[in-house]
Amino acid sequence: MVNFLEKASRKFARRVGYSILDIFYPPHCYLCGKGLATHRYICESCLDSFERITDPICEKCGKPAPESGGVCSECAKGDREFFLARSFGLYRPGKGLAEAIAGLKYEGEKALSKDLAPLLDKGKTGELLEDVDALTFVPLSRKKLRDRKFNQAELLARKVSQITEISLVQTLVKLEATRPQAELSREERLENVRGSFDYDETIDHDRVLLIDDVFTTGSTVDECSRVLKDAGAERVYVATLARSYPG
Ligand SMILES: [Zn+2]
Ligand SMILES: [Zn+2]
Repeated sequence: MVNFLEKASRKFARRVGYSILDIFYPPHCYLCGKGLATHRYICESCLDSFERITDPICEKCGKPAPESGGVCSECAKGDREFFLARSFGLYRPGKGLAEAIAGLKYEGEKALSKDLAPLLDKGKTGELLEDVDALTFVPLSRKKLRDRKFNQAELLARKVSQITEISLVQTLVKLEATRPQAELSREERLENVRGSFDYDETIDHDRVLLIDDVFTTGSTVDECSRVLKDAGAERVYVATLARSYPG
């Protein structure tokens, strides 16, 4: 991890411009600090170290499972609103992928999305991209967007749309600032998100892929999926960078 001073200087240098940044601070990997030859933000070996999700998984929500061919106990209840959900990797606090997502989300390191978004086009999430007509993302409330300046899920979705040339639709709206999901139990999470999203335009696409950074209990993406179906989508697929597990 690069030290605080250097990080602050890099932030300043980024505002000044990349040509000056290159002279005084050649690009470094956000995670390990190793020098990078190109305008990358995470080096190849850190990207390779992210723990990918592979089979066996729950066939519905993509959670790692003891064996192939079934669904997990949550999905067995049969009330998931999304059609399929998949995540690229495992979310383990303190590990590379979780650190990179935290940097993107909480430290305003917007540029990290450029190296993280292409991961969605690989592995389990990449398989979903072959099956959808449009992309969308989990929105932030207006207040949160003001505080954070950008929506990390939107950055990821825009980049994936550029890579794959699948069109991006923006219709979901977060209605009110709810309590941060991280503080709540599963039951409270479900209560907290119910009715907190709406849409502002109908959707002309049948199979829509909803993009977010982390899948925890799935309550947020499930509520968004319900609203997207109200808006006209026939099936909603979900792709997240990481899956918190167990969870
Ligand atoms: Zn690195
Ligand atoms: Zn499941």
